[in-house]
Amino acid sequence: MSISYWLDHSANTSNETYDVVIVGAGLAGTSVAYWLKKEEPDCKIAILEKNELAGGASGRNAGFITCGSVEHFNRLVERWGEDLAYQIWNFSEVNLSLLKEHIIGGATDLEFDDKGTFSLASTDQEFHELQETAALMEKRGIDVETVNGSQIRTRLGAEGFIGGIKYLSDASINPLRLTRRICEKGGAKLFERTEVSRIEEGPEGTRSVVTNRGRFNASVVILALNGYLPSIDPYFADKVFPTRGQILTTEPVPKFMEGPCYAHFVLDYFRQVQDGRVLIGGFRQLEKETETGYSDHVTDKIQGALGEFLERHFPVLRGKKITHRWAGVMGFSVDGQPFVGAKPDDQQVFFLGGFTAHGLGLSFHTGKCLVDLMYGRDIPGFLSAKRF
Ligand SMILES: Cc1cc2nc3c(=O)[nH]c(=O)nc-3n(C[C@H](O)[C@H](O)[C@H](O)COP(=O)(O)OP(=O)(O)OC[C@H]3O[C@@H](n4cnc5c(N)ncnc54)[C@H](O)[C@@H]3O)c2cc1C
Repeated sequence: MSISYWLDHSANTSNETYDVVIVGAGLAGTSVAYWLKKEEPDCKIAILEKNELAGGASGRNAGFITCGSVEHFNRLVERWGEDLAYQIWNFSEVNLSLLKEHIIGGATDLEFDDKGTFSLASTDQEFHELQETAALMEKRGIDVETVNGSQIRTRLGAEGFIGGIKYLSDASINPLRLTRRICEKGGAKLFERTEVSRIEEGPEGTRSVVTNRGRFNASVVILALNGYLPSIDPYFADKVFPTRGQILTTEPVPKFMEGPCYAHFVLDYFRQVQDGRVLIGGFRQLEKETETGYSDHVTDKIQGALGEFLERHFPVLRGKKITHRWAGVMGFSVDGQPFVGAKPDDQQVFFLGGFTAHGLGLSFHTGKCLVDLMYGRDIPGFLSAKRF
């Protein structure tokens, strides 16, 4: 696509030197800018983005602000032990509180809703796991409700599920508007259509960020590229893996779904958005070998499976038109947890990422922790890139 001078909001790129240059204008990059400005209001920050604000995963996701991680709580406990699993869970609960306090407030235009999300089981084995998860969560004081198949039919309009649980404190939002709001509140200077190719040593101890628009010099560079991190620096090639996710939406229908839902061990997800459309994503498991890399194209196989799922489980959606189909690139970390750190060979280059399909539930708090790290404060061990 060609860009006209008038539509190119970055045409007036300057050659100024910044205190901090952030690469990537998604949830993570804008969150770091926000926390840096809180720390030092006079800090001069530029955010460089190869597309447009939220043009990556942040403007292409499903909008679930989910506590926890890519797995049910019982699996987190199996993997990390009960105490660490709870710390990981709590980290995302704090993420939601910070978003409410600093960004969302009483705003009504962000389509924010915090009445919980469901996890649904269509097999006895998954329902058993969900009940185990609910018991472990209740033991830790996390609010959760168990629902049966008939409640799922009445409250969610869905057939073919035998039971499920509802995490009462989860939320959902319009992710594009949220990213824009974080960016506005941060007050950094945004350069769109500015693609970074490499980072070199700059004048007087600075770092020089080389882009298609020339160089941006700064004392500190922050890479907020999530799934795209390995595309700019091979250091990240064994730490985070670009992984595609696909979504479709239906035409609007009258409101029938009480809240957003996950199914099939968190692999598939669907919700009814504010204008009545039903959005569904997932089914990556059908084409694992092709759902990697940096392409944001959709495939017939996964799009077909998403449509069939809606037809099978939702009588009210049978025959409804599909209005949008899209894909985006996520960053899956080696162990499923996000990371923050500084490059071992260059302590002026910091980074964050590895949100593993949960950036809305993690990135605002992770951005705060990156700023803590930069100012010498402690961060949780499970977040530190030193673990790799
Ligand atoms: C289909 C899908 C559904 C999802 N659903 C959810 C969900 O419901 N809930 C949830 O919590 N998470 C979800 N996610 C994950 C979530 O969107 C991400 O975790 C989050 O957006 C990561 O934010 P980020 O800022 O780290 O990365 P991104 O938003 O990807 O930002 C990175 C930015 O870097 C830019 N960039 C790349 N290379 C360069 C370069 N060389 N120079 C300059 N800029 C560059 C990209 O254009 C991009 O804008 C989903 C993701 C997808 C794809």
